[in-house]
Amino acid sequence: MLSPTSIQRLQKPALGLLVLLLLAVSAAMIWGMQSFADSARWVGHTYEVISKIETVRSSVREVESSARGYRLTGLPGLRSEYMSSRPVATGHVRELLDLVRTSGVQSRRARQLAELVNSRIAEVDRTVVLYREGRSNDAIEAMRGGRGLRLMDEVDSLADAMREEEERLLADRRVDSMRKAALLTGFIIAGMLISFVMLGTLVGYLSRDSRRSRALEQKARATMATLERSLAERETLAEQRRVLSAFAGLLHSCQTGDEALSVAANALSQLIPNGSGVCYLMRSSQNLLEMRTLFGTRGSGYPETIRPDQCWALRRGSMHVFDPDRPSAACEHLHGLDDNVLRGACVPLAAQGAVLGLMHVSGGAGEPLDELERAAAESVAEHLAVVLHSLELRETLRVQSLRDPLTGLYNRRYLEESLPRDMERCQRRGHPLSALMVDIDFFKRFNDEHGHPAGDALLARVGQLLGQATRDEDIACRLGGEEFAIVMPEADGDQAAERAEQLRLAVSTATVTYMRRELGPVTVSIGVAELGDGVASPQALLAAADRALYSAKARGRDRVERAGTQATP
Ligand code: GH3
Ligand code: MG
Ligand code: MG
Repeated sequence: MLSPTSIQRLQKPALGLLVLLLLAVSAAMIWGMQSFADSARWVGHTYEVISKIETVRSSVREVESSARGYRLTGLPGLRSEYMSSRPVATGHVRELLDLVRTSGVQSRRARQLAELVNSRIAEVDRTVVLYREGRSNDAIEAMRGGRGLRLMDEVDSLADAMREEEERLLADRRVDSMRKAALLTGFIIAGMLISFVMLGTLVGYLSRDSRRSRALEQKARATMATLERSLAERETLAEQRRVLSAFAGLLHSCQTGDEALSVAANALSQLIPNGSGVCYLMRSSQNLLEMRTLFGTRGSGYPETIRPDQCWALRRGSMHVFDPDRPSAACEHLHGLDDNVLRGACVPLAAQGAVLGLMHVSGGAGEPLDELERAAAESVAEHLAVVLHSLELRETLRVQSLRDPLTGLYNRRYLEESLPRDMERCQRRGHPLSALMVDIDFFKRFNDEHGHPAGDALLARVGQLLGQATRDEDIACRLGGEEFAIVMPEADGDQAAERAEQLRLAVSTATVTYMRRELGPVTVSIGVAELGDGVASPQALLAAADRALYSAKARGRDRVERAGTQATP
């Protein structure tokens, strides 16, 4: 098998050889045709010579017979016939001489024939002259002498020899032309065969060559396309990296989960052009996910809340990509949504083993997400989950730092943080705001009687009662020891005093169980103060309530006192 380069190298010489061969075959054909024409001419020439020999022979006999006729009849007509036949005979002899002049033997014989014919005519002339001179007997004698007959025999035998020679030449030429024809036919057939074989081989090699170059071209085109694709992918990857790094930077500066979600939604809009999606966050109850952010063009239609068991991604703990050909594998929470949404993927938001939420993304209209887009969505989800987790942790810590661990109520720090806010809000809106200061009566004694842990149990129980007695917008906190405060936005002094009274009653009727032992009843003293004249700051409000509390203590405990109504202690 030849290599493509050797085929190319051999192409030109092979083509040259082929052309030469075809030229040779054509030349042989032309030469053959000329040779056949030559042979035909020579055959014709031979037949002409033979016919001329016979003509000479018959014209000499014509001279003889017309002379004999004249001698026998003496008719002048026969004499003129005799006279005119003489030049005819010599003319034919001349023509014969001319016909055979190229052949040495035949030319020599023709000359001899011409001499014999001339001698024969001269002999006939002599008898005619004798006859005309009236010497008929001499003439008859001359004829009887037999010289004329001898001459005629010689003419005949020479004509026969010439004819035989011509016939031999004819036979020779026939054999020669048969041989040439066979040779030529063989040459032409062989030449044509070789040409066809060469042509076939060349065409075969050329077509294989062209097939090979076509295949090479296709391969080159495919490589080019792959190259272009990978370049485009590289560009997309670089762009993704840029967007993701900007996203990560922004994300770590987010203060709240909602802020982080909206930053993530913005990043997803850039990473998946024409894409759409939604983010859900898990409730602290862990049994429901709530929709928090939508992005893209096809946001509507997603359910507001979903259960964790309605999503394959949450159940399996990894990204779930939908196969458009198997819509049955779509998650339950997507049922009823349009097909384009079904071509997307669900990604769980999970960090440190905790599931925090779910992200669903889908590509542009009708387009399933490609590999890069899926990877980008996963990356966004990972970053987002880590940040959500740390924000949640931070929030827990913050709440913990604001809560009293024993009672679960807020601590003094929280009160100091929130009271100015609430006061400002109420003052701005013209709403009232009241504060209660609560202190357990004779707690020291209780501690002494039942022990410190029992005192703790009492504190927890009182804290629980305080928590139950407050509304959502109220702030109940433990200020320290057995002192509590309750801030009641939008409640005036009367309402606060009423609630204080209810609380006092609730405590005095409650029982405290510690180590399966019921401990004796306890009471609380409560001071009530209202925001208003002369009480315009948090400190003033708390101080007023504190003063009222002292007043309640001074007046015998287990009672509620309102600020401003009691004497200054
Ligand atoms: P009063 O009726 O005048 O309020 O008398 P009291 O005994 O309740 O008040 P006092 O201020 O004399 O005593 C408060 C006691 O509370 C002193 C302290 O031992 C106790 N105490 C403070 N914090 C805690 C605590 O966290 N746990 C327990 N068990 N006791 C505490
Ligand atoms: Mg006390
Ligand atoms: Mg006290």
